[in-house]
Amino acid sequence: MLLNLARTIPRSAANGPGQRFVIWVQGCAIRCPGCWNPDTWTFATRQLRDTAALADEIVATSEIEGVTLTGGEPFHQARALVDVASRVRAAGLSVFVFTGYDLHELNQSDHCELLALTDVLVSGRYVQSLRSFESEWRGSTNQRVHFLSARYTEASMADSAHVEFHLAPDGELSVTGFPLPQLLDVVPAPEWPPQDQE
Ligand code: SF4
Repeated sequence: MLLNLARTIPRSAANGPGQRFVIWVQGCAIRCPGCWNPDTWTFATRQLRDTAALADEIVATSEIEGVTLTGGEPFHQARALVDVASRVRAAGLSVFVFTGYDLHELNQSDHCELLALTDVLVSGRYVQSLRSFESEWRGSTNQRVHFLSARYTEASMADSAHVEFHLAPDGELSVTGFPLPQLLDVVPAPEWPPQDQE
C-alpha cells in the first residue's frame, strides 16, 4: 500500500508526548486560512512511500514512544495510515493524530478503523483569530484534544517542547511545533496566501 507524504522527521518532541516519529501527509481539502503547512494542500504526488517499509523504519527508530500523523489531512489517506498505525501499535508504539475534522464528522464517516488505532486525536479546523499560545497541542482554541485510549492523560502530556528547529542534511531549516509569541519575530512563517496550490 502506498502513502503520499510531504516529509518525515525521525525524532521530534514538539508534535505530541515524548519523542515521536512525525509524518506530514500530502493533501488537504479543508484549507484553513492561515494554515502553517499550505505546501501540504495539493494532492499531487510528492513522495510515495510503501506503508510496510515506512512502518519498519518507524519501528527501527531508537528512543521514540510513538508516531504522529499530521499534514495535510491524515484522514484523506486513512486506509494507508491504518496499515502504518496497526504495524507500529503492534510494536508497542503510540499513535497521535492531528486532523482538521471534528470528531463527530469522523464518527459519521467510514474512518472508524483509524480512530480505533489512535491514542490521542487533536481535532478541528485551524481558526487564525483563535490562535492558541497557551494550550499544548492545539493550534487554535476551538480545537479539541481527545484521549481515545488509556495510554495518555492530560497530565502525562504537559511537559513537552513548544517548538523545534530541524536542519536537514541538504541544509534546509524547518520549524515545527507551536511557537510562542516572542518567537514569531524570528520564525519564518509560510508565504500567505499560498501560491501555486491546485
Ligand atoms: S486541516 Fe490542517 S493542514 Fe488542512 S488547512 Fe487546516 S490546518 Fe492546514
